[in-house]
Amino acid sequence: MKPIEEIKPLLDSPKKVVVTMHQKPDADAMGSSLAMYHYLRRKGHDVIVISPTNFPDFLKWMPGSDNVLDFESAQEKAIKALDGVEMLFCLDFNTMSRTKNLEPYLDKLQCVKVLVDHHLEPSPEFDYGISDTSAASTALLVYEFIYRLGDEHYIDNDISQCIYAGTMTDTGSFRFASTSARVHRMVADLLERGLEHEYIHQAIYDNFLENRLRFIGHSLLNRMEVFYETNTAIMAIPYSDLKRFDLQTGDTEGLVNFLLSIQGIKLAALIIDRNSEVKLSFRSKGNFDVNTFARKYFEGGGHFNASGGRSTDPLDKTVQRFLKAMHENEDLLQ
Ligand code: 5GP
Ligand code: MN
Repeated sequence: MKPIEEIKPLLDSPKKVVVTMHQKPDADAMGSSLAMYHYLRRKGHDVIVISPTNFPDFLKWMPGSDNVLDFESAQEKAIKALDGVEMLFCLDFNTMSRTKNLEPYLDKLQCVKVLVDHHLEPSPEFDYGISDTSAASTALLVYEFIYRLGDEHYIDNDISQCIYAGTMTDTGSFRFASTSARVHRMVADLLERGLEHEYIHQAIYDNFLENRLRFIGHSLLNRMEVFYETNTAIMAIPYSDLKRFDLQTGDTEGLVNFLLSIQGIKLAALIIDRNSEVKLSFRSKGNFDVNTFARKYFEGGGHFNASGGRSTDPLDKTVQRFLKAMHENEDLLQ
């Protein structure tokens, strides 16, 4: 993969560009993609953003989100958008399989493929890019990319809002170890450019329906198990709970962090039966590497302290497999 600066000459003339992100995008995937979208459009390119799946309602305030094509509900339009595309920008994921049903269409493309990402161990299929695992968010990398190309005059309020949102959520509101001076310098710059940050916190964190809170209460009371001998807490959510509380995409985000707030807990796992598959979210504090854990046991990956995976076994069998994996890692969890 060549350094991303080398695409500069390619961007000197108008191009047909598609920007895409991982399935079930979070605020960083959506924020970095939309920041890139606004930037490239301002530079005169023809840009379309495709999300492999739908995305949570609490991201619908993001400038440009109305124009995002959902590959699941607008498949024909999205396939048409890929026709004749000259550059594909892949944001906030490191392997095409993270784009789910969109993957075969992306694999077929003969165009220039650009990666902007901060996950561990990217696959080798990208022509140009940045893979910086020390970056707190992909949105931060988009911000730095714009600067590296000498285009910071394009950073307007739309771009600032998208970048701030992605970085705010991926740093746990600026508290994780990844919240470097580099992050704070960027935020200072965005504030000086006129960003109103409190509006973004409200739009993302104070914008849920009552049922989500009741679901959280129910889950903490009835679905949580704590294993003090291995410093681990888990929550296994049956599909019937998702139905009962009428949960929407994104409503389970952040739930895993409650588990990590218990004193002494080093590993937290949220295990959700999504009907078609079981999804697992892992978080850790300190030196337990959940990227390796997710890769080894649950076909997943991510970051050192935040990762995810999947299982095609039923929920209870997945929980048993998790507990076995937990015991195999007992020493590392002390
Ligand atoms: P979350 O638990 O919030 O869904 O994901 C945490 C982190 O792990 C994110 O950075 C996400 O991109 C990554 N991740 C989640 N699920 C998977 C997966 O199935 N495969 C890979 N490679 N990464 C994942
Ligand atoms: Mn991210």
